[in-house]
Parts: sequence; structure tokens; C-alpha cells
Amino acid sequence: MPPDVEELPADINPDLTIVHSIYCGRCGHDLRYSRWVGRCNDCGHAYNARPLIMQGIFHPHEHRVPLSDTIVALLCFALAFFSIRGNLNPIAWDRVVISAISFATGILYTRMCVRAYTGCFRARGILRRIRQEHES
Ligand SMILES: [Zn+2]
Repeated sequence: MPPDVEELPADINPDLTIVHSIYCGRCGHDLRYSRWVGRCNDCGHAYNARPLIMQGIFHPHEHRVPLSDTIVALLCFALAFFSIRGNLNPIAWDRVVISAISFATGILYTRMCVRAYTGCFRARGILRRIRQEHES
């Protein structure tokens, strides 16, 4: 008869601890041998590494440079500028509306880009840490 699962040490029970190297989404700490749900031992960031959930876990593919969003943001600001340029005296309201909508869209895309670039910089730091810890 197999021993009760609860009596096994946590580090040999594959149902209770992470058996592969996965990394904290904030600092890149290797969560191997940690509980499936918990807080990073290094930075305290909450994570859930259960399959199909994987929150707070580092996903390298989610941190790509947002090139197309950057281009859209720049095009929106350019459209806003060229729509309103020379149309304020006298005011051409259709141009003002187009410019305002373009400007607001540019702001939204800029916010998305700032968040994505922040994620990219954090991901570079995490990848550097993972590489250093594998070398040592
Ligand atoms: Zn961490």
C-alpha cells in the first residue's frame, strides 16, 4: 500500500512542488522545488504555477518589443498634428474632431507601449539572471 501523500516530504512529491526550472515573473528567481502556488522566496511576488494558470511566472515570449504598436502610436500623433495644423484660424471643427480622436488613440497606444517596453527591460534582466545562475 503506498504511503499517504501528505506524509511524503514536499521535495519528492511531484504534486506539491515544481520539478522543472520555471522563473519568477518579477525577478527571475528559479522556482524549482517551490510549491505550485505561493510567493517567490527572493522578491515575495505571488505566483501560481499550476498548469493552465501560470500567473506570476516568467514567459519570455510575452516580452517582445512592441514595434507595430509603436508605429501606430507615432502615426496617430502625426495624423493629429497634420489634421489640426493650419485649421485653427478659422476653426475647422471636423479637423479638430479628427485630431482629437487621433491624439486620444495615440495616448492609448503610448500607454500600451510603455507597459510593453517596461516588460521587455524586466525580461532582459530576468534572462541575464537565468544565464548567470546556469553558468555558476
Ligand atoms: Zn521573484
